[in-house]
Amino acid sequence: MSTVLTVDLDVIASNLARVREAVAPAEPMLVVKNNAYGHGLVPVVRRAASEGVRWFGAFDVRTGHAVRAELGDDARIFVWMTASRAEADQSVRDRLDIGVGDTAVLEDVAQAARALGSRARIHLKIDTGLHRNGVRLEEWPEFVARAAQLADEGVVEVVGVWSHIAEASDDEDDAARRVFDEAVSAAETAGLAPEYRHLAASAASFARPEFRYDLVRVGAFAYGIRSAGGSTEDELGVRLAARLDTEVTGVDARGVTIGVGALDGLPSTLGGRVDVGTPSGPRTLESVGDESRVSGWASASVGDVVTLFGGAENEKSPTDLAEAIGSVGEEILVRLSPLIPRRYEGVER
Ligand SMILES: *Cc1c(COP(=O)(O)O)cnc(C)c1O
Repeated sequence: MSTVLTVDLDVIASNLARVREAVAPAEPMLVVKNNAYGHGLVPVVRRAASEGVRWFGAFDVRTGHAVRAELGDDARIFVWMTASRAEADQSVRDRLDIGVGDTAVLEDVAQAARALGSRARIHLKIDTGLHRNGVRLEEWPEFVARAAQLADEGVVEVVGVWSHIAEASDDEDDAARRVFDEAVSAAETAGLAPEYRHLAASAASFARPEFRYDLVRVGAFAYGIRSAGGSTEDELGVRLAARLDTEVTGVDARGVTIGVGALDGLPSTLGGRVDVGTPSGPRTLESVGDESRVSGWASASVGDVVTLFGGAENEKSPTDLAEAIGSVGEEILVRLSPLIPRRYEGVER
């Protein structure tokens, strides 16, 4: 063992309970894109399902397929990245809930369902201002009319209307919500009756009840990752689930080298900007490169454990690291190399 990411599944379970309570009566969707934010897809979805989570946000079709394979028929799995006709086919075969943000994808999904003699479950995406895919309000009436036609034909079932917001300023989010409400009305006018309206991710779903609608898509807070510059974990009622440990690999005249670095996905810009936890207390992470160095630690020995984030000694979170370099906590986790072993605590036996 040199470097390991330890994931406490009991912590994820208690965060999920907290999320459910915070967003009620809306239902939470656990977002598991990017290998469950670096925590490892399969152990996370397995535990979440056993905690009663019914909706999973997979982003891409491959992840959606993996969640379906793991959890079987009952899970609702939302994907919002179908880039090809082949992926549309796969989504329909896997009975995924498909986020549809443009006309070409709508037609692809309809064709896939027709070819398979099936019906695709779709969620129509309005562009509320983020311009990250989605149909603009000007084109929305035509889009929902076409969706209604395909629903009449029986090849799609429009179960949702959704969008994504920046969660950076309340004013912008409020403007987005007005567009969203208009889009829902227009869909209803077109004869659609979407059962699930969803707009919020972690931050808005906790802080702003009016953004909850029927379903909220929560990633970060379920893993205990707070927003940069936002409320603390204690205020949110969640705890960090992951801890990144490594070892001292060398002690020489120039100082102490440790076993994790840029090749493992750690941002080199962290060098000189953060402390790490050591048996002698916090020490400065002097540089991050092919080799990383810790300074001011005279008593270090090879094999001593160094904690980059998480853990009682250190109490640094990925968001603390991110704040030192103008990033966000989930970025620190999702960039960690998949080659770093994940170890799980709280696994049911
Ligand atoms: C990543 C993502 C989320 C989850 O965001 P968090 O802030 O991590 O909760 C929700 N919705 C969409 C569309 C996303 O891409």
